[in-house]
Amino acid sequence: MTATPPFKRIALIGLGLIGSSLARGIQQLGLAGELVATDHSPEVRARAVEIKLADRIADDNASAVKDADLVIACVPVGVSGAVAQSIAAHLMPGAIVSDVGSVKASVLRAMAEHLPDNVHFIPAHPVAGTENSGPDSGFAELFSNRWCILTPPDGADAAAVERLAQFWGALGANVEIMQAEHHDLVLAVTSHLPHLIAYTIVGTADELEDVTRSEVLKFSAGGFRDFTRIAASDPTMWRDVFLANKDAVLEMLGAFQEDLSKLTRAIRRGEGDVLFDHFTRTRAIRRGIVSIGQDEAAADFGRKHAALKKVE
Ligand code: NAP
Repeated sequence: MTATPPFKRIALIGLGLIGSSLARGIQQLGLAGELVATDHSPEVRARAVEIKLADRIADDNASAVKDADLVIACVPVGVSGAVAQSIAAHLMPGAIVSDVGSVKASVLRAMAEHLPDNVHFIPAHPVAGTENSGPDSGFAELFSNRWCILTPPDGADAAAVERLAQFWGALGANVEIMQAEHHDLVLAVTSHLPHLIAYTIVGTADELEDVTRSEVLKFSAGGFRDFTRIAASDPTMWRDVFLANKDAVLEMLGAFQEDLSKLTRAIRRGEGDVLFDHFTRTRAIRRGIVSIGQDEAAADFGRKHAALKKVE
C-alpha cells in the first residue's frame, strides 16, 4: 500500500478481462482511496461483489462515477459513446476520464462528443490481453512490462496526462504517447490484422470437406492451435474493433493481400529462394521481439513437453 493513494476515488465501468485486471491491480497497489466499479450486466456485478473486485459495486454507470477523480471505461469500443453519454452529467469537475479501447480515433470522437469541458479526457490502450473475458479472467500482473499507449487530444492538460501515465506506470506498464490515428494504423498491423488472419484460418479449417474436424483437432500442434488461441478472443470486442478501425484495417489488409499473392506465386513457380528469403526475414522479427523483452525465447511458446518413459 502506498501512504497516500494517488487517486481519492477510481471508478471502473465494465468488469471484463481489462476492468477486472485493473481492479485487482488498483487494490493490490493501493492506487485509490476508494475503488468503485460497475458493469451493465447484473450477473457480472453480483460476481464482482462475491470476489471483492472493488470497495463498492455500483448499480449503474452514473452513480459509479460520482466524486471519482479517475474514471476508466473498460467496455467494448462500440458502446464507449453510450457510456460517455451515461456518465457525462455526473462527472466531478477536474476528473480524468479515460478508456482502454483497442481503437482510438473513433472512440475519441464518440466519447468526446458527450463529455463536458471541465473534465480531462485522455484515451488509453493497454496493449496487453488474453483470449479470455469476464470478471474471473483478470489478473493484477496483466499490464506488467506491456505498453500502454495514451492518445491525448490536442490541447490536453499536460499534468493530467502525466498523472494518467504515472497510474499506468504503477501497474507495471511502459507508457507511450501517440496521435489516435497513428495508434490505429500501428495496431491494425500488430493486432487487428493477426486476429483477422487467425479468425480466417480457423474458420477455413472448420469448413474443409476432405479433412475431418477430428483430424484438424488431432494434428493441431502443426501450427493451427496457435491460431486457435487468438481466434478464441471475445467476439463482441473484435466485431467492434473491425468496425471501429475499418480504414486502417482495410489499408493493412490490402498490403497483406499483395504479400500473400507474392508468396502464392513463389510456391506456384517453385521459387524456393523467394520463400527462403521471406522466412529468414520473418524469423529475424521474432528474434527482435524476444530481444526487446516482449516475449520469452522458450521453444514452442514455453509449453511443457512430457518426459519420455524408458521401456522396462
Ligand atoms: P470483456 O471481458 O468482454 O468485458 C467488457 C465488460 O463490459 C463486460 O462485462 C460487458 O458486459 C461490459 N459492458 C458492456 N457494455 C457496457 C455498458 N454499456 N456499461 C457497462 N458495462 C458494459 O472485454 P475486455 O477484454 O475487458 O475488453 C474491454 C475493452 O478493452 C475493449 O474496448 C477492448 O477493445 C479493450 N482491450 C481488450 C484487450 C483484450 O485482449 N481483451 C486488450 C486491450 C484492450 P456484458 O458482457 O454483459 O456485455
